[in-house]
Formats: sequence, C-alpha cells, structure tokens
Amino acid sequence: MTFDATRLANAATAALRAYDPGHDLPALRLRFGAQIAELGSNENVLGPSPLALAAMQRALADIHRYPDPRGAALKAALARTHGVGVEHIVLGNGSHELLMMLAQCFADAAHSVVFSQYGFAVFPIATAAAGAQPICVPALPRTHALAPFGHDLAAIAAAVRVDTRIVYLANPNNPTGTWFGDAELTEFLSRVPREVLVVVDEAYNEFVDAPGLSSALTLRAQNPNLIVSRTFSKAYALAGARVGYFIADASVVAVLERMRESFNVNTLALAGAEAALGDIRHLEKVRAFNSSERAWLIAELAQRGLTCLPSQTNFVLVDLGRDTAVLERQLFERGVIVRPMGGYGLAQTLRISIGSRAENAQLLAALDAADGY
Ligand SMILES: *Cc1c(COP(=O)(O)O)cnc(C)c1O
Repeated sequence: MTFDATRLANAATAALRAYDPGHDLPALRLRFGAQIAELGSNENVLGPSPLALAAMQRALADIHRYPDPRGAALKAALARTHGVGVEHIVLGNGSHELLMMLAQCFADAAHSVVFSQYGFAVFPIATAAAGAQPICVPALPRTHALAPFGHDLAAIAAAVRVDTRIVYLANPNNPTGTWFGDAELTEFLSRVPREVLVVVDEAYNEFVDAPGLSSALTLRAQNPNLIVSRTFSKAYALAGARVGYFIADASVVAVLERMRESFNVNTLALAGAEAALGDIRHLEKVRAFNSSERAWLIAELAQRGLTCLPSQTNFVLVDLGRDTAVLERQLFERGVIVRPMGGYGLAQTLRISIGSRAENAQLLAALDAADGY
C-alpha cells in the first residue's frame, strides 16, 4: 500500500485547499525583467521609509539572536501612536496570522462565523481552519450607489445567531475597495451582542481620504468586543517583512497570546515596523501619491469606457461587465500583471493595484493595444 496522509488530516484541514498563489512572480520577473508591471498584489510601489530600511540593516547585527518574544519596543511605539495601553496590542507575522489565530482561539464546530460575500479571502479560510460553520452574507447589489458589491451591514447583523462567535468585516474591503462610515459601524455594533467578537480589518486605513470614515479605533472604548486589525504590508510597504497587529480588549489579547508562537515576528520586521511608524512624513508622501495617482488612473480608465468601483484603497476594481479572462491574457502578454477575480466569484472584474506612473501608463498602453476593449 502506498502511503497517503491525505485521509489522516483532521476534519477542519480536510475541508481546506492549499493557497493558490496565482502567477509565479519570480519566474515572470525573469521573463519580463524591468518590463514587468506588478499590479496584482496591492503592494506599495514607493517602498518603505528609508528609516525603516536603515533600522533593518542595523538589526542584522543581531540576527543570530532570537527576536524579542514580547515585541516590546514595537508595541510601545504602537501604543503611543494609537493612544492605547500595550496590553491592548498583539503582534502577528502579518495580520493574516492573527485573523487565522482568532478563529482558532475562539471558534470551533459548535460556533458560526459571519462574513460578507466578496469579503477578504482569509475570512472563510480562518473559519474553515477552526472547523467552525461559515455564514456568508450576500453583498450589496452591483447597482448600489455608494458600495457596489460592498458589505451589507444590516444583513450581516441580522445573520448573527446565538452560536455566532466572530464577525469578520474589512473596511475598506479587499477586493472591492468599498467602505462603510463610522456612523454605520456604530449602528451595526449596537445591534450585535457583546458576546460576538467583531473584527474590523483596516489593512487599507492609511489610504482613506473619504469624509465620514476615520477608524473603528474611535469606537473601541464603548465596544469591548471590537477588534481592529492593522498591517505594515500596505501603506508602510513592509509586505515582505510580515508584521500586523490587533488592537483589542486586554482579555482578547490575553487569549490570543496563549496560541501565539513565541517568536512569530522576526527581528528585522520588529525593527523595520517600529522605525516606519516614526516616519510620518514618508507616510504622508505615500498617502498623497496614492490619492492623486488613484484619481488619475480612474479618470484614464473612464476615458476608455472602463468603470471602477469607488475605492478608498491602493487598488481599483474595474467592472468590465463581461468575463475578463481574454483581456487578462492580453495584459499578461505585455507584462502587466493584474489580479483576476474569478476565484472571488467576480469574474467580470479585474483588481488593479495603483503602481508607479510608469507602470500605470504601461497598463493603459496595454489596454489600448488589447483587441476588442
Ligand atoms: C493585504 C491585506 C491584509 C494584509 O495581510 P498581511 O498578512 O498583514 O500582509 C489584511 N487584510 C486585508 C483585507 C488585506 O487586503
């Protein structure tokens, strides 16, 4: 008999599939060289603060040591930035790790977990990995004026059951780019029992410039069940270093600390994130570039008859109104990598990250050259 561990996997793992990384980017970089426009992963093309890079260089001197298992210096910097005590912060190897850990710590087969259709892809995976029951709430309709395909907070609140332990929200959301305001979240929280943990994933918060949306952090004091997720992967441009964090009630943090691997955030990531947080001018530069470049790209796409959903992020979701596979292939042949959305059930859309002006221009040129668009 041949050995096959597949059938030995536990029930939760049996229901999972391995992450599909999509394009093989290292191979594509070899093929296209400098001609590649990587617009598929919402990375920040301006790169991290030079202060972060310098701090990471210095931290290399201690790379033979284990990292600080408490992440004390980074937590202290985050505590100052957000005006909270360090006991409200838990650090993750990317926020992805914490989103997974949350379900593992708080939900199992006896519980349900609620999230939106077209919400962040990690939410159903975290639910399945914990063996919990998923409740996927239909998104707002495509014709919705403010948030097409966005979170329907009233329907999400109504979907919460007595066995619900967690609600995952993303604001702004990936892949739609849509958002809800502080007032809507306040209303939502008033409808959800305190025994339900409400996660607001704010991975793109630093890019927000819309009136009426600040951060769920402003509502945390009145809502101990509220958990705010942030990351250094997007505006801080440290995606490769892997650092994210939750700000939550101290009791939530204490439970997560039981499951957290002691050295989950590495030495370079700790040093880089702390220094990045201190460089407000770089963050302002990133924010200003993203706002103006996003507006420019949306206008250029509109001139070509292509409609973007409203976005408060560093990407746009283009609604083609028909299957995008052929166009995606044509862009690909010109070295323009975008994110196809078939896996999300949005096969008529393409998610395009805001790149450098040269990359965005390459995208537009490739669109102009594409047959039938
Ligand atoms: C990119 C992204 C993250 C970041 O994940 P990390 O693990 O911190 O890199 C989290 N949530 C959403 C919605 C994202 O799009």
